[in-house]
Amino acid sequence: MPSFIDVVGEALQAYWLSPLSLMVLAVCGACMGTLLYVFVTNARNAKLRVSLLTGLYALSIFFWAFVAGSVVLCVSQARMVAYTRTGVPVAGFGAVAGGLAASALISAVAWKYGSRSVLRRFAPRAPTDAEVWLQHYVSVLAKFEGVGDLGVGMVYSSSPLALAVGGKERVILVSTGLLALLDRDETEAVVAHEVMHLKHHDAEFKIFSRVLSRILFFDPFSKFFDPAVHREREYLADEMGGRATGKPAALASALLSIAARGTPPKSAWGLSILGSGPGIFSRYPPLDERVQRLLVLSDLLRGFSR
Ligand SMILES: [Zn+2]
Repeated sequence: MPSFIDVVGEALQAYWLSPLSLMVLAVCGACMGTLLYVFVTNARNAKLRVSLLTGLYALSIFFWAFVAGSVVLCVSQARMVAYTRTGVPVAGFGAVAGGLAASALISAVAWKYGSRSVLRRFAPRAPTDAEVWLQHYVSVLAKFEGVGDLGVGMVYSSSPLALAVGGKERVILVSTGLLALLDRDETEAVVAHEVMHLKHHDAEFKIFSRVLSRILFFDPFSKFFDPAVHREREYLADEMGGRATGKPAALASALLSIAARGTPPKSAWGLSILGSGPGIFSRYPPLDERVQRLLVLSDLLRGFSR
């Protein structure tokens, strides 16, 4: 029986230093470098940046699945002569197939069960006669955006909460505190932002990304991609919501009013339109930058309608 050290040494020589496996890793690294370069040089293109980050996420899944598959092959197939001839393609194919299967499984679970726990926790009620305009507004906007039927659920809470619940039952939850705080234009702008989250499947992606970043807890890339992709999706929802309503300034003013109420309680983190804490590990973009972008968009739209 060869010792473990011998196996690792042999694998290192025959597998990890072979041209084929080095090429797979180099191509993977080059793709990631290119996507990162395009990401960094397109600071204002939220749609492109969301796609790039999603691609980077997929590449990092492939990278780790390839490394894991290769290690298992190298250790289990000790002294196998044809490490590189069959090992690299098997690990590469396994990484693609395993990554797709794991993604499909996580997506299916997120789609089926993602909304349930949130809905159970908030136990939303149907809008009253005084609130039913919100449901009408969401239905018309969702129809125009091709999102399909969306429900509106009212949550009794003094915190100004608004969140999009994706998956099987797609609902936009709005708290009574939000309705009391904002005027009608601002409320419409906030729910339009949430409709855009559902249009881009952000609610499902959020659960998917959270599960995945727990599985890849050792992966430094996902620690960066997971919050970064959420920040870009916030910018995108702000922009598309602002364009759809034609009132981006109302969303800016809503964000400022909500922020003036102070940091939301910890239990509401990730559920509010605003989150706490700036920086590269925050899932929310800085408030100033969001407001700034919305005001620029507002100027732009006003200029065109003159
Ligand atoms: Zn949002």
